[in-house]
Amino acid sequence: MQNRRPTRQISVGDARTGIVRIGGGIPDRDGTPTTPAPVSVQTMTAGYTHDIDKCVAEINKLAAGGADIVRVAVPEKKDTEALKEIIQRTQVPIVADVHFHFQRALEAVEAGVHKIRLNPGNIQDRKQVIDVIQACKAKGLPIRVGVNEGSIIERKDKQKRMKELGKVFSEHKHGYLLSIMITKLEEYLDIFYEQDFYDISISAKSMDASIVIDAYTEISKRFDHPLHLGVTHAGPKETGCIRSVAALSALLTQGIGDTIRISYANDPIYEVQDGLELLYSLGMKTRIGVDLIACPTCGRIQVDLFTLIQDVRKALTAIKTPIKVAVMGCIVNGPGEAEGADVAIFAGDRRGIIYVQGEKVDNVPEEKILETLMAHCRDFEQRVLRGEAKLGEKKVDIIPPDPIGELGSGFDKIATGNVEHVHAGGGAVALTVGKS
Ligand code: SF4
Repeated sequence: MQNRRPTRQISVGDARTGIVRIGGGIPDRDGTPTTPAPVSVQTMTAGYTHDIDKCVAEINKLAAGGADIVRVAVPEKKDTEALKEIIQRTQVPIVADVHFHFQRALEAVEAGVHKIRLNPGNIQDRKQVIDVIQACKAKGLPIRVGVNEGSIIERKDKQKRMKELGKVFSEHKHGYLLSIMITKLEEYLDIFYEQDFYDISISAKSMDASIVIDAYTEISKRFDHPLHLGVTHAGPKETGCIRSVAALSALLTQGIGDTIRISYANDPIYEVQDGLELLYSLGMKTRIGVDLIACPTCGRIQVDLFTLIQDVRKALTAIKTPIKVAVMGCIVNGPGEAEGADVAIFAGDRRGIIYVQGEKVDNVPEEKILETLMAHCRDFEQRVLRGEAKLGEKKVDIIPPDPIGELGSGFDKIATGNVEHVHAGGGAVALTVGKS
C-alpha cells in the first residue's frame, strides 16, 4: 500500500448532516494545513427525486447502511423543487447530479444541496458554467467535474493540445482517450480557476476497468484536486463488483482516490455495502459491524452451509461491534481457516459446535445453529461492551485428531478421545469431546 496522494481538500455537508471531508494533504488556500480524510463511500439513489417520500426513504436507508454522501438526479424542475424538503428530512450530505440543464444546478444550490456534479460533456456553455460556479462559490459548495469517457467539449486549441498529449501518450494503450480526457479537464477547469474557484473534485469514469486505472493514474499526476473513483455502467452486481473492485483496488493501493462510488444495476444499498467492504478489506476504514468469514465449502460439508451463511450474514447486521465470526463447514480444516475468529461455528453431520474465543460453548443440531450462534454473538458483544472481553484476544485453534464423532458423522472410531485445544497465548489444554 502506498501513502495517500496529497490533494487539496473539499468539504461536503453542513452542521446538521455533519461535514464529510474529501482528500487533503495540501494546505488550504489560506495556508491552513490539511490531512488526508478517510476515503468516503458515495452512492446514488435509484428512484425519482420528485417522489419525495420514496426518495427520503431511500436516502435514509443508504445513510443507515453506511453511505457518507448520497447523490440524486435532478433532470427536471420538479426534482429540484423536491430537494428542499428532502434535505430537511435526511441527515447525510446530498449531491445534485446535473446533466443537461445548468438551471437545475442553480435551483439545487438554492434548495440547499451540499454539492453539485457537472458533466463537462453536457454543460459546455461558458457563461452557464460560470453562473453555476458563482452560485456554488456564494454558498461555499464544492463541485465535482465528472468527465466520463465519451464526454465532448470544444476548445479553441483542442487539436493542438491533443497533439501535444498524443505525443506524451503515443506508446500508451489508451493514449488517444487519455489525451482527450485530460484536454477536456484542462479546458473545463480553466473556467473554474479564472473564477478563483478551487473546491473541486474530479472523476474520469469508464466502463472499462483498465481505462479507469490509466485515466485516474494520469489525472493524479496532473491535477491536485481530490479524486472521486468509479467504474461507470459497471453492470449487474455479479460482474460489476469484479469490474469495480479490480479498478478501484489498483488505484487505492497506489494511494490514488479520495472518495469512491461502486455502481451497479441493482439496489444502491449493495453499492454502499460493497464500497465499505472494499475499504475494510484494504484496511482503509475501521469496520463497523461484524467481520464474517466463511469457508468456501467442499466435499466435507454435512449441513446446508450456503443457507446458513446467508442467514447468519443477515442476522449479524444487527450487531455493530466489529467481532469476527467464522462459519466453517467442518472441524477438519475449519479451525485453521477460522484463525482469529472471536466466535466460530464448525459444522458436522447436521450439527454444529460453537466456540467463543477458544472456549467450546455449545454443540447443537443443525436447526438450532443459527439461533444459538446469534445468542452467543450477542452475549459476546455485550461482554465486549461491558469491558469483560476483548476483541481478537484469543483465537480458535484446534489441532487434530478431529472430533468428527462428536458432530455425529458416524466415524466414532476416530471420534472418541481428546483433542488438543490451543489458546492464542500458547499452551495446549485438553478438550474433552463427545460429552457435550
Ligand atoms: S472448512 Fe471444511 S468444509 Fe469448509 S472448505 Fe474447509 S475443509 Fe471444506
